[in-house]
Amino acid sequence: MKRAHVFLGPPGSGKGTQAKLLAERFALTHMSTGDILRDAVSKETEIGLRVKAVMAAGNLVDDDTVNGLVFARLQGKTTDVLFDGYPRTLQQAEALAEFLSSRGLELGLVVDIEVPEAALESRVVKRRVCSESSCGAIYHLDRKPPKTTGLCDLCGSPLKHRSDDTAEAFRSRMETFNATFKPLQAYYEGSPNYRLVDGSGTPDEVYEVVVKIFEERA
Ligand code: ADP
Repeated sequence: MKRAHVFLGPPGSGKGTQAKLLAERFALTHMSTGDILRDAVSKETEIGLRVKAVMAAGNLVDDDTVNGLVFARLQGKTTDVLFDGYPRTLQQAEALAEFLSSRGLELGLVVDIEVPEAALESRVVKRRVCSESSCGAIYHLDRKPPKTTGLCDLCGSPLKHRSDDTAEAFRSRMETFNATFKPLQAYYEGSPNYRLVDGSGTPDEVYEVVVKIFEERA
C-alpha cells in the first residue's frame, strides 16, 4: 500500500455504496470500520462483546479500539486502501496521519459526501444489507429494492435490517455525527486532496462524480 483514501459523510450519505464500487473499479482494498466492528459483534469476539451495546445505541466506539483494529488490518496490505467510516474523530485522523507518515505512506483523496440531514433518515431506515459479510451488498426498499423480496441479488443470502438503522438509533447517530464532524472536516478541508461532493443525487449520479475525482488523481 502507498496511499490511503478517506470517505467522510453522515450516516446514510452513501459512503459504503460508493466505496464498494470505487474499490472494485480501481482495485483498492475497501475498509469499512462499521463492517469490521459488526463482524466482531456477530462473531462475539472480546472486542465485539465490548462494543455491541455502544454500536446499537448509535454511539462511537472508542478511538483506541478502532485505531487498533484498523492498523492491524493495514499490515502487509499491498494495494491502496479506501477507508469508509474511518477516521471519524479528530483523534483518529491524527493517529492515521502518524501511522502513515511513520511508514512513508501517504494520505490519498479525502472525499466528503454532503447530504441534507432531512434526506438521511429515510435512507437509513429503509436500508437493507446482505447478511453475508463477505458480500455486504446494500439495498433501499424504495430506491434500490432487491429483485426478490428479502434476498440479495448478488449472492442470494437473506437481507437484514441493521440494529442501528432504526429511526431512534439513527437520531442518536446523527447527534454523534453533528458533535464530532466539524473538527474532523476542518482538519482535512485545507488539504489539496480534499473534495466536497454533493451526495443528494442517486447512487449512479454520485458515482459519476466520484469516479472522475479518482480518475483525475490516477
Ligand atoms: P454509518 O456511517 O452509516 O453510521 P457505519 O457502518 O460506518 O455506519 O458505522 C456503524 C457504527 O459503527 C457507528 O455508529 C459506530 O458505533 C461504529 N463505528 C464505525 N466506524 C467507527 C469509527 N471510526 N470510530 C468509532 N466508531 C465507529
